[in-house]
Amino acid sequence: MNYYSLHHKSPKTTFKNAVVQGLAKDRGIYFPDNITTLSKEFIANISEYTNHEIAYEVIKQFVGDEIPTKKLKEIITKTVSFDFPIVKVDENIASLELFHGPTMAFKDVGAKFMAQCLEYFNQGNTEEITVLVATSGDTGGAVANGFLGAKGVNVVILYPSGKVSDIQEKQLTTLGQNITALEVDGVFDDCQEMVKTAFLDEEITKKLTSANSINVARWLPQMFYFFFAYKELHKKHKDLVFSVPSGNFGNICAGVMAQKLGLPIKHFIASTNINDTVPNYLINGIYSPKPSKATISNAMDVGNPSNFIRIQELFSNDLEALKSAFSSYAFTDDETRETMKEIYKNSGYVADPHGAVGYLGLKKYELQENEFGIFLETAHPVKFLDVVEETLPVKIEIPKQIQKIINNKKVAIKVANYQDLKSFLLK
Ligand SMILES: *Cc1c(COP(=O)(O)O)cnc(C)c1O
Repeated sequence: MNYYSLHHKSPKTTFKNAVVQGLAKDRGIYFPDNITTLSKEFIANISEYTNHEIAYEVIKQFVGDEIPTKKLKEIITKTVSFDFPIVKVDENIASLELFHGPTMAFKDVGAKFMAQCLEYFNQGNTEEITVLVATSGDTGGAVANGFLGAKGVNVVILYPSGKVSDIQEKQLTTLGQNITALEVDGVFDDCQEMVKTAFLDEEITKKLTSANSINVARWLPQMFYFFFAYKELHKKHKDLVFSVPSGNFGNICAGVMAQKLGLPIKHFIASTNINDTVPNYLINGIYSPKPSKATISNAMDVGNPSNFIRIQELFSNDLEALKSAFSSYAFTDDETRETMKEIYKNSGYVADPHGAVGYLGLKKYELQENEFGIFLETAHPVKFLDVVEETLPVKIEIPKQIQKIINNKKVAIKVANYQDLKSFLLK
C-alpha cells in the first residue's frame, strides 16, 4: 500500500517508510493512496469472526505485502490482547470501554501495533532508531509500555511539567530500559512543536521517528474498536451513533475510516473540552487553531488537532458533506463534572472526565428513536483519580496494572527549550 503526504509536496511512499518516517519531508501527514471497501458478506457475518480475524481483515490492505501474513497475525494477537466491553449506561446509550489494556487508556492498541511494526522493519539494521513523542498525558505511558524492550528502538517522551496526572507521570517516567522521559517547562503544544522542529532539523532527523497519532501505524489500528462494537451491537437493529472524546482527533478519524470501509455507522460526534478549534470550524467554517488550555480532561488539551486534516480528506474537503455525517461539540469542566455526577446517580457508572465529555456529546446531539449512542470510554477512572474522587462519592480501587508502578521512582530530565532537546538527542 502506498501513502501520500497531505501537503502533496513529497513523493508517495510505502507503508514501511510511512511508519519509519512518521511525517513526510514536506511536514505533511500520510494518507493511504486508495481505500477498498470491505465485502458486504464480511460486514453481514461479522459475528462469526473472532476479534483477531476482524482486526486482520480490517488492517491488511493498509499493510499490503510489506509484512508477511503470519507475522501480521502475530502482531495483531499481541496488540489485541484484552477485552473491549460495552456497558449499558442509559436506555439508549452505552460505554465502549477501551481501557482494559496495560496502561488503561485506549492508546495501548495503537502503541503496541506500531512498536511491533517498527521492530519488524528495523530488524537487521545496525543503527538504532529513536522514537520521539510528545504526550498530553496518555500517549507517553502507552508508547513507553508498547515499546519497552523493543530491540533497536529508543524512546524519548516529552511531556508538559505539572500538566499530566500523577499516575500518568509514573507510567512514563518509571520504566527505564530503552525509555527516557523529558519534562518540558511548557504546555502540550510546546512539546508537539519541539517534536515537529526536531523532524525538520537536518542534524538529527535521520534517525528519528514519531509515535504520535500522526503515525499511520498508531492511527489505523484504532479502527478495530468500531468494528468490535458493531459486532456486539448490530443485533439491536438500530442506527449507531458514536461519540468520541477527541483531542488530536486520531481516534475519531479511525472511526470515519472504518465507516469508509463499509461499517454501518450513522453519525459521528467529536466531543471536546474547551479546546474547541473543530467545533468552531463546524459552526463558522474558519479553522483557527489556538494554544491549548488546561482542563480536567487533559488528554484532550489540544489546540491544533493534527488528524483533523485526515478527516477533511476522507470527506473530500467538502464541509457540507462533513457536517451531515459529523458533529463536534465543546464542553466546560463544570459541565463535565456535573455529567459525571449525573451518570453516577442514574446508573452507578463511574465515568472518567473524558468519557463524560463523550456522553455529553450524545446528549447534546439528541438521539432519535431508532438510534443507539455509544461513547468511547478512553481511560480508566483511576488515571484521573483526583478529579474522579473529588467529584463522585466513590473510592476507586487501584487496578493491578497501576499498583505495579505507583511506588516506583520518577526519573525525568528537565527540558526548557528546543536547544535542550537537541543537545540531548545529539548525545
Ligand atoms: C488521547 C486521548 C484522547 C484523545 O484521543 P485523540 O485520538 O487524540 O483524539 C481522549 N481520551 C483519552 C483518555 C486519551 O488518552
